Amino acid sequence: VAKDVETLKGVPEGLKYALRWDTPRPTGTAAEATRGSLYVELDRRPVWGDRIRGRPVGIPWTWIDLLEHLTKSWPKFMWEELEPLNLRVPVFRLRAEAQRRWHRRPQENAESEQRALLRFQTAHDLATALGGTDTPSLWVVREGERVILSAAGITRYRPFVEVRATLEALGSEIANRLDAVSDGRGIDARTGWQSRDAVPAETIVALATGLPREQLLLLSGNEQFGEFWGVEGIDPQPTPVLAAARMLGPDAPIAVLRHCLNWIRSVPRRVTVDLDGLATEAVRRVGIVKAKRPFVQGYALAEWFRAIPGIVTDEGRVDPERILKSLSVDVSVDDLGWTDIDAVACWSPDHGPAVRVNSGGRHAQGEAGRRTTIAHELCHLLSDRAASLPLAEVLGGRTPVVPEQRANAFAAELLLPRSIAGAAFPNGSAVEKQTESLKDRYGVSAEVVAWQALRSGLPLRKHVLASLRNYVTDKDAWDVAVKRS
Ligand SMILES: [Zn+2]
Repeated sequence: VAKDVETLKGVPEGLKYALRWDTPRPTGTAAEATRGSLYVELDRRPVWGDRIRGRPVGIPWTWIDLLEHLTKSWPKFMWEELEPLNLRVPVFRLRAEAQRRWHRRPQENAESEQRALLRFQTAHDLATALGGTDTPSLWVVREGERVILSAAGITRYRPFVEVRATLEALGSEIANRLDAVSDGRGIDARTGWQSRDAVPAETIVALATGLPREQLLLLSGNEQFGEFWGVEGIDPQPTPVLAAARMLGPDAPIAVLRHCLNWIRSVPRRVTVDLDGLATEAVRRVGIVKAKRPFVQGYALAEWFRAIPGIVTDEGRVDPERILKSLSVDVSVDDLGWTDIDAVACWSPDHGPAVRVNSGGRHAQGEAGRRTTIAHELCHLLSDRAASLPLAEVLGGRTPVVPEQRANAFAAELLLPRSIAGAAFPNGSAVEKQTESLKDRYGVSAEVVAWQALRSGLPLRKHVLASLRNYVTDKDAWDVAVKRS
């Protein structure tokens, strides 16, 4: 048993696999030479195959199919971070959520969405390599410096470099098996695998942004394409321009895209030693919050941050813009010409950290919304630069769900702690007056007051809840939260 365990390759907390060939030496065609069984586990639990009396037993197949799949999908593993419908659900729920949506939508649109989602799943679900079998889905989707792995009801975030190395080892093990095979399929599969990283700049940018090619060409204009997008040369890496374009999305007017991307390209690099030190501690703290729900992490982070002397003024107020500036972050305000987004921010080895608040943004156009927006970006700067959002963020755009929920909770708690909001409505009279006074004193919107009061967990009377509900935009979410409280 111990010997079998040692034959597994990979990382215990992430992907591990064991490939066992049917014959000691490869013979016959490429398909025959790669016949064997593959066992895969995710965080120590079998997802392909099973353990029988402790022994890993894999799925029998001709594994050149998987090698061809890995080669074809490689650019997507490297560059495609966002599923095409932006459904904002975990990958394993994509199909179910999409079905629900198509149920409500005109058929024409649903069909094009179906094709887009199928293309995405075909690339990112390794089980599609074994077409037509009932092999469980094994999802691989990049998110910044991490990869979401999801299979058999288990979802794990693992470092991008680790997952890439594991998939490379697996692919190379199959490719090596083809060294002595001289049929056309075997040669194609081997050479294809060797050149998996040779991807044209146009393909990289299309995958990394999810924007249509015509739009991409419009944006680069007279400039050399690869240079505009920062992907020229060998071994190109993700850039803040690519990340921001993806988050702005295909619905953003071209002028807005151009404005935001050119702003990022113009932002110089800044040294932020103090911020980086706080970020190290913030990441450590997010890691030790036992409850995994992102809003719980956001609250915990805000509580820690508020306790740092100087963050909360003597009047009990927090000024996020002053804090960011004191941490050497470039904060500016500009009308970006589109109400849907409230801010764009970038941080990379070459640009920023810098935050540009949209004075025309739906929330950021008022003072309270602007403060919340900057507090939200502060959370990303503290907790997400190392993993989820290594390059940029667009508030209101197509951003990953977990860091977004965490940053929203952090922003609310930093400006108006739940304990203060909840305690402000003790006997339930004068809800409006109390709300106004909290708004003024803490510089937040009435909506933030309402949610923070509800989430305080303190008992609130029925008519207080009914009055606070008037301030809330998403009344369904409010009703659900009230029921649970
Ligand atoms: Zn955000």
